[in-house]
Amino acid sequence: MPTALIIGASRGIGHELALQYKAAGWRVIATARKAVDLTTLQAQDCEAIPLDVTNINDCGGLGWRLDDEKIDVAILNAGVYGPRTTGLQTPHDKQFDEVMHTNVLAAMRILPIVLPLVENAHGRLAVISSMMGSISERNGSHGWLYRASKAALNSVLKDVSLQTQKAICVALHPGWVKTEMGGVGAELPVADSAHGIRKTLAGLRADDNGQFFNYNGTSLNW
Ligand code: NDP
Repeated sequence: MPTALIIGASRGIGHELALQYKAAGWRVIATARKAVDLTTLQAQDCEAIPLDVTNINDCGGLGWRLDDEKIDVAILNAGVYGPRTTGLQTPHDKQFDEVMHTNVLAAMRILPIVLPLVENAHGRLAVISSMMGSISERNGSHGWLYRASKAALNSVLKDVSLQTQKAICVALHPGWVKTEMGGVGAELPVADSAHGIRKTLAGLRADDNGQFFNYNGTSLNW
């Protein structure tokens, strides 16, 4: 039975990914930071691990808990948007620290833990990034801090992809999705986003390592 690891599975896209992999017959290891969400995930037959991605001890605990696991698909999904600014409105220090810690530093802690676990012939490692992190496709500066954090996350993923021996490591844009972050006006139901992400990951080939993809499998520019 293949194993999926979903980091940040309490709600939104991460939770839907966990449920869809489960429904497809996979073993699912899912993380969340709140006890209530861990209980829900367990009730949904997922192996639940407590993890606040900004907590260094939790990240260490994740490494300990996953020691010797073989993971087929690992997805780092947890993320925050931060202040909903328009234009060049400088974030406060606290806002900057929270967004960069969650979206970037956490990836620099968690991806080195997870990479060895997906180092098998079919292993895939994905970060849920955003088109808003693309520099070449910039079309506005709303969410200035979020954009900078996802651009940095893309850079982190690229470096991870250069270290892998066998796994395929990619950044993924999930679409504009109806979640708490995406808002009710978003284009895509969460089920369609998660379905597209799973299909895209399943269809990756070795030379896709280090690339940036849309949820529907099309290639994106950094
Ligand atoms: P939600 O706001 O619905 O969910 C965010 C998820 O991240 C929750 O599971 C949340 O957990 C988790 N999370 C945030 N901070 C932490 C933390 N410190 N430790 C552990 N978990 C944390 O957003 P989406 O589902 O929409 O977003 C998922 C990913 O997709 C994010 O990385 C986002 O940037 C990206 N994305 C989303 C888009 C959209 O349109 N929705 C578009 C482009 C990218 P908790 O419940 O505990 O807060």
